[in-house]
Amino acid sequence: MAFSIPDYFFDSFDRITPAFLTEHGIRCILCDIDNTLVTYDDAEPTEAVRNWLNTMRENRITVIFLSNNNGDRARIFANSLPNPYYAPASKPLTKTAKRALSEHGFTKNETAVLGDQIFTDVWAGNFLGAALTLLVPPIKDKTNLFFRTKRLLEKPFLRCYRRREKKRQTREEV
Ligand SMILES: [Mg+2]
Repeated sequence: MAFSIPDYFFDSFDRITPAFLTEHGIRCILCDIDNTLVTYDDAEPTEAVRNWLNTMRENRITVIFLSNNNGDRARIFANSLPNPYYAPASKPLTKTAKRALSEHGFTKNETAVLGDQIFTDVWAGNFLGAALTLLVPPIKDKTNLFFRTKRLLEKPFLRCYRRREKKRQTREEV
């Protein structure tokens, strides 16, 4: 069960701050693109994405795009950005993630995996043994049956996360 629960859930990627990451010893984010940073329809990064990436860079946190989409999608998205990209990444398999970390000189202990899907992004983070798994809600979900089913299957894990989060807050208040 714990394998499918993210360490932290954020309402949006830009709620994740350098302070939070630094506090957890994170220097690198393996970051999903589709529905995490932009919708499937956005070929290029939005202003909000650019601002967030700039903030990360200014704080010496390296964001590496790790996408299950095809190489062209990632290349066009990252074209105007200095960030490296790896696609297709075949998450939750970790071969590409491991290559990304080794090519950029990071260890899993200083890496967070960020995405919008439990069974690809959170699992990839946990298979990898990443220090943190971070989940955001999908910006604009596809509505086909495959995606609807997947989201339905994610629900119990999200409930679990909220219960654990409540406990965590109660502990902090004590
Ligand atoms: Mg995604």
